[in-house]
Amino acid sequence: MPGGTFAAPSWNAFMAHGPALWAAFREELAALLAEGAAQQAEVAPHLVPLADAALHMPFSVTEYTDFYAAKNHAFNVGTMFRGPENALPPNWLSIPIGYNGRASSVVISGSEVRRPWGQLKAPDAELPRFAPSERFDIELEMGCIVGQPSTGPVTVAEAEAMIFGYVLMNDWSARDIQAWEYMPLGPFQSKATATTISPWIVTPAALEPFRVPTPPRERELLPYLDEPRPGLFDIDLEVGLTPEGGTETVLSRTNYREMYYSAAQQLAHHTTSGCPMRVGDMLGSGTISGASKDSRGSLLEMSWGGKEPVALPDGSSRSFVADNDTLVLRGAAKGDGFTIGFGEAAGKVLPALEDPYAR
Ligand code: MN
Repeated sequence: MPGGTFAAPSWNAFMAHGPALWAAFREELAALLAEGAAQQAEVAPHLVPLADAALHMPFSVTEYTDFYAAKNHAFNVGTMFRGPENALPPNWLSIPIGYNGRASSVVISGSEVRRPWGQLKAPDAELPRFAPSERFDIELEMGCIVGQPSTGPVTVAEAEAMIFGYVLMNDWSARDIQAWEYMPLGPFQSKATATTISPWIVTPAALEPFRVPTPPRERELLPYLDEPRPGLFDIDLEVGLTPEGGTETVLSRTNYREMYYSAAQQLAHHTTSGCPMRVGDMLGSGTISGASKDSRGSLLEMSWGGKEPVALPDGSSRSFVADNDTLVLRGAAKGDGFTIGFGEAAGKVLPALEDPYAR
C-alpha cells in the first residue's frame, strides 16, 4: 500500500490508486478477517463492534449529481406535477436526466436535518410566501461513488471500471419549494438542505453475485449508452419511519433493480460533454420506486401528493415528514447463506427555525 494512503480520514486517496489496488486490498483484507486466519490473534484487538463505533463520512464528496431514473417514480411524480399525458418528459426514455446537486449538502447517517424555509406558492395563491416547508420529503436512492477520474467521454464499460462502490442515499426534498422553483432549470433549493448517506461503501466486487440487467428498453438507446453486461444489482431496500418516542413502521420495500438506467450508464452520459469526473464524485440513482403502492420511494408518491395520507399504528398519519420523525433507509443484497449489508441512512427531522433571518 502506498505510504500515507490511510492517513486521511477518508477513502479518497485509496480510491485514487485504482481498481488493481482495490482488488488486491480486498483480497488481503478478506484473508485477514476470515475465520481461522493465521493472523487472527493480531487482528482481533483492533476490531470494534459496530454498536460501539461512531461512524463518519467514508469519503470526501467532491461533486454530487442526482438523477431521475426509475420509471415508476418518474411516471408517478410527472402525473402529479403535469398529468398522466405529460408524465414522462419526452427525453426520459433516451437520456438519464440529472441535475447538478451540492456536495456540501451530503451528511452521514445519524445527522439531524433541519426543516428548511423557502419560497412556497399554493396553486391558488397569486404570490409566493417565505415560510417553512410544509411538504418535506425523503427520496430512497443509491449513491454511486466515482473512484477514478475522467477527462473526456467514456464508454459504459469504462464508466463501470471507474465506480468504486455504492451507498444508500436519502435525497431530502422540499416538495412545495420544488414545485414553485423547478421550471425551467430543475430543482435548486428544494434539494439543497441535506442528503444523507450510509456510512460505508459497498464495492462492486462484493455485489458481483447480485448483478441483474436493466429492464427491456422501451425506446432504442443511442449506441454510447449500450451496456456490455447487466448493470444493476439485486439489492433489497426499505424505508422506515419512527415518530418521536414511538415505534418504527416500515413504509415501503423496493429493490435497486427497479432502475431504468444503471449507474454506469449515468456516469457515461455525464461525460459525453467532456465534463471531467473526479475521485469522490457521487451520483444519486434517482428515487427508486416499484410498481405497487407499498414499494414507492418517497412520501410524495406514497400519499399521492397528500391526497391519501399514510396511516401509522399510533393513529396519526403522514402525507410528508413531521417534525421529530426519524427516517431510515436500509439495504441488503441477500445471497444463499450470506448477506451484503449497506447498514442504514438515518436522519431525524428537527422543526424549522422560528425565524431564519433573526439576527
Ligand atoms: Mn433525488
